[in-house]
Amino acid sequence: MIDLVVIGGGAAGMFAAIQAKTAHPEASVVLLEKSAVLLAKVRVSGGGRCNVTHACFEPRKLVEFYPRGSKELLGAFHRFSPRQTVDWFEARGVKLKVEADGRMFPVSDCSETIIEALVGEAKRVGVEIRTLQRVKRIMKGFSIGFQDGKVLECKRLILATGSGKDGYLWAEGLGHTIVPPVPSLFTFNVPLFALQELSGVSVAEARLSLAGTRHSQTGPLLITHFGFSGPAALKLSAWAARDLFEREYKADLFVDWLPGISVEEMYGRLVDLKGATPQRSLLAENPFRLPKQLWKTLFSNPRRLGDLSLKDLRHLASKLHSDSYRVEGKTTNKEEFVTCGGVERREVDFRSMESKVCPHLFFAGEILDVDGLTGGFNFQNAWTTGYLAGRASLGL
Ligand SMILES: Cc1cc2nc3c(=O)[nH]c(=O)nc-3n(C[C@H](O)[C@H](O)[C@H](O)COP(=O)(O)OP(=O)(O)OC[C@H]3O[C@@H](n4cnc5c(N)ncnc54)[C@H](O)[C@@H]3O)c2cc1C
Repeated sequence: MIDLVVIGGGAAGMFAAIQAKTAHPEASVVLLEKSAVLLAKVRVSGGGRCNVTHACFEPRKLVEFYPRGSKELLGAFHRFSPRQTVDWFEARGVKLKVEADGRMFPVSDCSETIIEALVGEAKRVGVEIRTLQRVKRIMKGFSIGFQDGKVLECKRLILATGSGKDGYLWAEGLGHTIVPPVPSLFTFNVPLFALQELSGVSVAEARLSLAGTRHSQTGPLLITHFGFSGPAALKLSAWAARDLFEREYKADLFVDWLPGISVEEMYGRLVDLKGATPQRSLLAENPFRLPKQLWKTLFSNPRRLGDLSLKDLRHLASKLHSDSYRVEGKTTNKEEFVTCGGVERREVDFRSMESKVCPHLFFAGEILDVDGLTGGFNFQNAWTTGYLAGRASLGL
C-alpha cells in the first residue's frame, strides 16, 4: 500500500507531493497525472512568463485579493506566504523579480524555468511521478480505480485536480459539497459598442459598477473591440462572478471615467471654465485630461463654452460619472482565468487542508472554492494549500 497518492500534476499537486516527500523521505509518495505533461497551466501562464506570485508579504493585505477564501487563507498565509514562495524558488536557483504592479515573474521571463525547478525537485526528493494515469473512481480507504481496470491502494490522498470535473465528482462521492463552479476573470462584451473605434485606448483609473448590485471596482480600464477589459473589468468579473453567471452575463454597467473627482466638483470646474474662457471650445479644452479620442467620443459638442448652458455642463458631469453600457456576454481572458466554486471551504481544515468529513483526504489548489484576482494570487493559493496539504498529509 502506498503511503500517499497525489492526484493532479499541476502547481498544487506538484508542490504538495514535493512537500510531503521532503518532510517524510521514508514514505512512498506517488503523483498521478492524467495527461502526458505536467504543469500544463504553469507553462502557458502569464503569457508564457508565469506570474508565480505577488509581492504582497502581509497576509492581512494579501487575503484582500481573494474574492473567495480570504477568511480561510489568512491563517494559511501566515504559514506559507509569497515570502516563502520567493525563498523556495530562490533556494532552487530561480530568482524572481517584481514588476511595477507587484506581479512576480522568474527573471528568465520564461515559465519553463519554474517547471524545471518543480520537476527537478520532485525527482530529487524521490516523488514517483506517473503520467497518462486517468483515474476513474475513488473509494474510501483509499482505493483508486483506473480506466484500464487497475486498482491502487493508498493510506492518504491529496486531490489537486484543479477545476476538472473528475475531482469534484470524487470529492462529492467522499462526502463533500461542491459549490457550483462558474468562470471568474473575464472581460465584458458590449454589443453595438459606441466606443469600438477606440479599441486599444486605456484610462489609468476608472470605476466600474454593476447596476442593481453592490459590485464596484476601480483601476485601469482598457477599451477593446468587444467592450471593456483591463484590471478594473477583471476585478469586477471576479467579485461579481456568481451574480453575473446568474444574470447570464447580461447587465447594465456604469463607468465613472473620473472617480477621483466628485460630480459636484467636476460641475464646479466646468462652470468656472465657462466663466474664465467663454470663447474657447470645451471639446478642444479637454479639461480633465482624458485620452483625446475618448474625450471626443464622450463629448462631441463643438460649441464654445460660453454657448453651453449650465444644464449642458451638468449633463456632461453626470455622464462622465455614470456612463452607461449594456453588457451582453463575456470573453475569456487569455492571460489568466480561474474557476469560482469547488469544494466547500467549511468542510476543510485550512490548517492542514484535511477534509473534515473524510479523514486522511486532503485538498490543494483550484479544486477548492478559493480563487484570487489576476496577478499571481491563484498560484500563491496553489503553493500555500499545496504546502499545507503536503506537510500535513503524512503526519500522525
Ligand atoms: C491561461 C491561464 C493563465 C494563467 N496564468 C496565471 C498566472 O500567471 N498566475 C497565476 O497565479 N495564476 C494563473 N492562472 C491560474 C492558475 O493556472 C491556476 O489557478 C492553477 O494552475 C491551479 O493549479 P492546480 O494545481 O490547482 O490546478 P491545475 O493546474 O488545473 O492542475 C490540475 C491537474 O490535475 C490533472 N487532472 C485532472 N483530472 C484528473 C484525473 N481524473 N486524473 C489524473 N489527473 C487529473 C490535470 O490534468 C491537471 O494537470 C492561469 C490560468 C490560465 C488558464
